[in-house]
Amino acid sequence: MKQTDPHRCHENCLVLFERLSEYIDRELDAPTCKDIEAHIKACKPCQVCLETLKQTVALCRNLERRQVPDTFSLKLKSAIFDLVDKKAD
Ligand SMILES: [Zn+2]
Repeated sequence: MKQTDPHRCHENCLVLFERLSEYIDRELDAPTCKDIEAHIKACKPCQVCLETLKQTVALCRNLERRQVPDTFSLKLKSAIFDLVDKKAD
């Protein structure tokens, strides 16, 4: 497998991160989805990030039928910011 330059990858990660929720919700066009999938295949942090986000989205959808406690969405936000911070190192 071709090695991706980490700095270039890091930039892509941030761009990708902003679009991940749209990607999960299938709001992006096909070429954009392909770009994201290609990046994720080559980028371990983004694989972890996508899995986490997918689980979180699934969890939110399940909870939506009841009520999402404020503390939960706060925890979620800090978890996501945590991931971004780790990538920014
Ligand atoms: Zn990445």
